Amino acid sequence: MSAADWLEQGLPHIWLPYTQMQTTPPPLPVASTKGSRITLADGRELIDGIASWWTACHGYNHPHIAQAVRGQLDKMPHVMFGGLAHEPALTLARRLAALLPDPLERVFFCDSGSVAVEVAMKMSVQFWLNQGFTGRTKFLSFRGGYHGDTFACMSVCDPEEGMHSLFAGALAKQIIADLPVDEASEAAFDRLLAAHAEELAAIVVEPLAQGAGGMIFHGAEVLQKLRRAADRHGILLIFDEVFTGFGRTGTMFACESAGVVPDIVALSKALTGGTMGLAATIASRKIFEGFLSDDPLHALMHGPTFMANPLACAAANASLDLFEQEPRLAQAAAISEALKLGLAPCRDFPRVKDVRVLGAIGVVELDRIDDMNGLKRRFVEAGVWVRPFRNIVYLTPALTIGEGELKCLTDAVVAVVGERA
Ligand code: PLP
Repeated sequence: MSAADWLEQGLPHIWLPYTQMQTTPPPLPVASTKGSRITLADGRELIDGIASWWTACHGYNHPHIAQAVRGQLDKMPHVMFGGLAHEPALTLARRLAALLPDPLERVFFCDSGSVAVEVAMKMSVQFWLNQGFTGRTKFLSFRGGYHGDTFACMSVCDPEEGMHSLFAGALAKQIIADLPVDEASEAAFDRLLAAHAEELAAIVVEPLAQGAGGMIFHGAEVLQKLRRAADRHGILLIFDEVFTGFGRTGTMFACESAGVVPDIVALSKALTGGTMGLAATIASRKIFEGFLSDDPLHALMHGPTFMANPLACAAANASLDLFEQEPRLAQAAAISEALKLGLAPCRDFPRVKDVRVLGAIGVVELDRIDDMNGLKRRFVEAGVWVRPFRNIVYLTPALTIGEGELKCLTDAVVAVVGERA
């Protein structure tokens, strides 16, 4: 069937994400992907500036991952994880625990970033319940934060954020704060925690970079403040590293460069090198021990059907091999410098509010975007795949992107933003 045919016949039956189906042009049919290139069905090639929502850290179709998945497919594509164990998952758990700072050591697998955050939230509440604290059911999270689209995740996202504000009436009421970036706000934050300590299970934060909520960066000292405050008030600290994990901010995990160890961390996205859905919630020894008891109801009450899928775990192990064998973090550092240089001309455009770079994340913040569909179309005409949201144009390329490809991306951003700004 030709692309024109499958598109025409399938479109009346598909419902696309975050898409006003009445006014948005149809999606572009893709024929194949390779490295940092997306080939469209009509033969046009786009350089991918966002690595499929920041997942494809080694580029598309890396042969080492493809081979690992093929090998696993012949052995065992899936087996339930309740009462049965398999090598890909146990090896992956051991490797993740070794990569994360001590005492983060217990890995619970699930299948998406949202569910990894949900599990972290559920773990926190049940940790307290298991110790007899029935009132610690709320979460403190931050303006500018994004943690996923499920109901519990939406409740800890920025409440003003357009995607989820619609649902406010249906969401659990949480405590939303500003990140304590200076001394005065640290004192205010401390007072807020003191006022709510009895009802808070945990603080949830995206460390160093808030992603889909606005691509906002903060320093390590903010996370150090959160850790100190959480400890002072006996509240757990959850790092949502779904965006920041696997080299995106320059180190393997953001917690590493921040020098802060959370009680629980959520990972997904680039965990499988962007090849398939897999996520992990990793808890510290203290959290895990809070579930050990003679009472069966003290066990963690969660178990997604496809958790620890062997194909996805094999892909993730292969992705970790690549981090060991190839210079990904050095590549992230080089991308960082190229982004700083390449996006700098945007600073001169009157409608550009800010240009910022952290690790392999480059952001051009405009005062507003009037014609989002037009802007997206112009990027495609310029031969690149860049998907602005709200007033944010960003690049989160594969860490393996070529120098020339990255230059095409930054040149396209400067040219297209320059037309409008
Ligand atoms: N947390 C963060 C920081 C994210 O960036 C995302 C997705 O963008 C999620 C959670 C949700 O992940 P998923 O879309 O896999 O459910």
